[in-house]
Amino acid sequence: MWTILRDVHGCGRPMSGRVQGACRLTEDINDFRRNVREWLADNCPEEMRTPMKGEFDAPWGGRVAQFDSDAQKMWFDRMVERRWLAPDWPEEYGGAGLSAAAVQVLAEELRRIRARPPILSEGLWMIGPAILRFGSDAQKREHLPRIARGQIRWCQGFSEPGAGSDLASLKTRAEDRGDHWLVNGQKVWTSYAHDSDWMFCLVRSEPEASKREGISILLIDMETPGIEARPIRLISGHADFCETFFDDVRVPRDNLLGERGRGWNIAKYILSHEREMIGGSEFEGVTPAPGDLGATLPRGEAPDGMLRAALADYDIDLIAYEAFKKRMADEVTSGTSPLPAMPSVLKNLGADLEMRRKELAMSIGGSEALRFDEEGGAAARTWLRSRSSAIAGGTTEVQWNIIARAALGLK
Ligand SMILES: Cc1cc2nc3c(=O)[nH]c(=O)nc-3n(C[C@H](O)[C@H](O)[C@H](O)COP(=O)(O)OP(=O)(O)OC[C@H]3O[C@@H](n4cnc5c(N)ncnc54)[C@H](O)[C@@H]3O)c2cc1C
Repeated sequence: MWTILRDVHGCGRPMSGRVQGACRLTEDINDFRRNVREWLADNCPEEMRTPMKGEFDAPWGGRVAQFDSDAQKMWFDRMVERRWLAPDWPEEYGGAGLSAAAVQVLAEELRRIRARPPILSEGLWMIGPAILRFGSDAQKREHLPRIARGQIRWCQGFSEPGAGSDLASLKTRAEDRGDHWLVNGQKVWTSYAHDSDWMFCLVRSEPEASKREGISILLIDMETPGIEARPIRLISGHADFCETFFDDVRVPRDNLLGERGRGWNIAKYILSHEREMIGGSEFEGVTPAPGDLGATLPRGEAPDGMLRAALADYDIDLIAYEAFKKRMADEVTSGTSPLPAMPSVLKNLGADLEMRRKELAMSIGGSEALRFDEEGGAAARTWLRSRSSAIAGGTTEVQWNIIARAALGLK
């Protein structure tokens, strides 16, 4: 049994004064790394070590999970079996119970072989951690093991037509009807609501309370009568977002997450996870590496000096960003307090790099990259999609506001 369990070695706590323990820990972590490496060599199919071209190159799980290839399914199944979709979650809730240090090693080894994510999942990235922290025992038992096995696909019901950056202005109403909440209202930009099984939804439960105090979070089964998700067709040709309507939707009382009227704090917690995820390019899957873009040049060299300089600038910023992410991960592992507003910093840096990467790919592709028909057009669509990184999970401007207040102390 080589799994490094969270409680056995106390990773994540400061290690001063624990020299013996620290040596042991290093040995165990080295063993763990060796074993992870071997396991990945045997279990991650070659096809799953190639870059994803977009978010459709990995499965999303759910009640009606779809897999594009046998390799994708095999990779997903093996990681589920290993419990490594949620490596840090407690074993009783379907995770592997790994320590922060072991989770970091696992992430490094996956990155080393450039493994695709076995699943893309708002359950794992956003609502799972919130249920783990704020949920009742019953909610943990009901939802977490299914998220950890990729069996349920979640969507995020936050934005509304009049509430995006100013999210706390949301109006979707949840009335207390004793054994249930009666939900009426509308969400917008709900990614993949039409394909999702459950939604974590921000509602106004106390209309008399001040803006941020009257908000709650409900966990809503998308098959409940009265919910309609209408996809919105986008410039990229896809229809990833929905307008989601609630018409007298009855949600069981016990589906309230955390305390009633205290949902704003949970929403901020979920948003910080979302921003880390977007900033960490987990959404895109394979982490980009310096030199990747240059390697796609037709003759291995940019003929144009401006493009060469832009590629070099991009690679340098990418190396600095990876070093910053590593420092943040080390701080989390060692229990040091992270930089204030860290998710917003990560989000803005990651979004900027993502947009530059896709723009450079267009420059490298030349006129062929400008195609926008059914067979071609992948580069142009991906480029258009990348612009949304500056908006999703809170816009770049709003993140600067958060950084100005929380990290720089500006009013
Ligand atoms: C790819 C993608 C996926 C998304 N998925 C979801 C989802 O699954 N669920 C969900 O609920 N929402 C989702 N959203 C919505 C997203 O959260 C909102 O679009 C975002 O919060 C911005 O809100 P808005 O579109 O209403 O823009 P607005 O808030 O109207 O902002 C318009 C412009 O004004 C600027 N602005 C606004 N306020 C300020 C301020 N105080 N200071 C400076 N500038 C400001 C903004 O930066 C922006 O440029 C998604 C969006 C995208 C692009």
